[in-house]
Amino acid sequence: MNKEIENKLIHKNTKPTSMRILVYDFLSSQQVATSLSEIENHFDNADRTTIYRTLKTFEEKGIVHSIQENTTTKYKLCHNDCDEKTHKDWHLHFYCKICKQTTCKEDISFPESMKTNFRIDEIKLFAKGICENCLEENFNN
Ligand SMILES: [Zn+2]
Ligand SMILES: [Zn+2]
Ligand SMILES: [Zn+2]
Repeated sequence: MNKEIENKLIHKNTKPTSMRILVYDFLSSQQVATSLSEIENHFDNADRTTIYRTLKTFEEKGIVHSIQENTTTKYKLCHNDCDEKTHKDWHLHFYCKICKQTTCKEDISFPESMKTNFRIDEIKLFAKGICENCLEENFNN
């Protein structure tokens, strides 16, 4: 397992330190986007600054993308096509007002092939609403 993460980090030009491997491992187990505090709570002994720096490095290297959600920043692992030059996470981020979780909706995205005569470096698609689980629990009975 660790070997696999090590290779992924090396592939993204990132030195696989033990902290980075731990954070990557944790993020890869999460279905939803995770905040710095949530990651910090998971690791009892790591300090916030180290985790924060790890996330910043990951973001620069195309390993995670961040999602700004009101006052909180959340992080989610990227796919292989992101690298240190460009992030390609041009998909919808969906915030559920009931369970307060943010998920990547990768099937809803801005067309990457769209031709423009200007250069797009970053796209943020963000929606708020009620997720499928909460809809079912709260409105279907
Ligand atoms: Zn990305
Ligand atoms: Zn929900
Ligand atoms: Zn995403």
